Amino acid sequence: MVSRVIPVDSFDLVIFGGTGDLARRKILPALFRRFVAGQMPEDARIVGAARSDLDDEGYRAFVREALAEFVPKAEAPDVDAFVGALGYVPVDARGTNGWEELAKRMRDGVIRAFYLSVGPGLFGDLAERLHQYGMADADSRIVVEKPFGRDLESAKALNEVLVGAFDESQIYRIDHYLGKETVQNLMAVRFGNVLFEPLWNSQYVDHIQITVAETVGVGGRGGYYDKSGAMRDMVQNHLMQLLCLIAMEPPSKFDPDAVRDEKLKVIRALDPVAHHHIVRGQYSETKDTASYREDAENPRSFTESFIAMKLGISNWRWAGTPFYLRTGKRLRARSSEIVVVFKDAPHSIFGADQGTHRNVLTIQLQPNEGMTLDVTIKEPGPGGMRLLDVPLDMTFAEALGPEAEEVPDAYERLIMDVIRGNQTLFMRGDEVEAAWAWTDPLIAAWQARNDVPQPYDTGSSGPEDALMLMHRDGRRWRDIRE
Ligand code: NAD
Repeated sequence: MVSRVIPVDSFDLVIFGGTGDLARRKILPALFRRFVAGQMPEDARIVGAARSDLDDEGYRAFVREALAEFVPKAEAPDVDAFVGALGYVPVDARGTNGWEELAKRMRDGVIRAFYLSVGPGLFGDLAERLHQYGMADADSRIVVEKPFGRDLESAKALNEVLVGAFDESQIYRIDHYLGKETVQNLMAVRFGNVLFEPLWNSQYVDHIQITVAETVGVGGRGGYYDKSGAMRDMVQNHLMQLLCLIAMEPPSKFDPDAVRDEKLKVIRALDPVAHHHIVRGQYSETKDTASYREDAENPRSFTESFIAMKLGISNWRWAGTPFYLRTGKRLRARSSEIVVVFKDAPHSIFGADQGTHRNVLTIQLQPNEGMTLDVTIKEPGPGGMRLLDVPLDMTFAEALGPEAEEVPDAYERLIMDVIRGNQTLFMRGDEVEAAWAWTDPLIAAWQARNDVPQPYDTGSSGPEDALMLMHRDGRRWRDIRE
């Protein structure tokens, strides 16, 4: 396979919060990898902007350290060349300090992108100052991180702040799940083949499972997490986005607004969820690890570190096909997957002793990205007609060769999409608001009845009731495994 790296146009990228954890772990390593891949033009500039009192050289040393930690295979000449593109300006988002200097660094005639890798409380100040100091023009882009609000009201307020300063077409709300190769592959498989789309409905799909399981606890960010919980932290954004991509109608073209219009329709068609279709949990302690309540430093916390739910979508395609979602911390394995379980063949010609066989499409996002389709075949060899389900590997890892192992990280793709001006994989303001409008009443309902999350064992698949959610429908979750 020939590598198809298409360089982007030259740009000035300012990372507000350029000394923060996200910049160190994700944003700067992603930019470095794109630089090494030859996608970043030689004259592109990256400017860190944060509170720390650093100069250009100090920031370059900081970035070298970050790369040594997060891109351990980085080669010295590449690192030297990359840090040459970096600069730093200390700025105070809430004051005047540093802004004139930052404005001076911006070049004319190149794309300007401003990555707000800071707490959402600073978005308004930053957007305002970018205008005040003449840095934002009609072609600038602004990138914002999650969390995008904590309810509909705060999300609306954030949207108002952003659209007060930038046009919606300039705003890039990141959900890094959308940058995953397999998520895009899902769209290619659905809309690039004639094979799947005719079966992609309640007539042929028995149910769909979406699991995002983590082994880590809330650890160091327990205080923040305790105010949020799995519903706000994971379901409202990541799981909802995956659900939209799986369930949406084919857009008329692969264009940002056409895709996002279809996703929005899915959220708007979600049924209200009965409270007995939601299971909330909190992990218990082990001899080596603390309980959720200890991690959150809140002995009376009612916040969920696990949630499972059964959803329905009221439209012609999906009425009658349940969607089961679950996500949690301190589970058995780190694994994110979407599983499409097709219905049984209407009639088996092979006899009852051959049991039931189902086609299952598994889209795995973590830890490895890939797609498999379980198909039923004859067990090879003598002994009559015995049926066997075997996975058909649809990732074509072998066909793609070594390139398949160098799939860009989600942040690499998303940052390059920002520079290219492609919003397809970013959430639109109305999508985020619709997701909160669906989430808010569920949270309000369990708060009103003081719902207490059920304890679950660290290293398990979550509370018993989450298993029951499926069992009582005659179904079962896929095992959580890496
Ligand atoms: P952090 O606390 O590590 O870094 C915050 C950065 O903001 C620092 O560079 C700091 O100097 C800068 N800053 C703070 N106040 C400022 C001010 N008044 N003026 C100018 N700069 C200021 O935070 P983080 O973990 O890097 O997270 C950044 C954002 O990304 C947050 O909104 C967070 O929710 C989001 N996020 C983080 C992660 C992650 O893995 N760290 C993941 C997803 C989303």
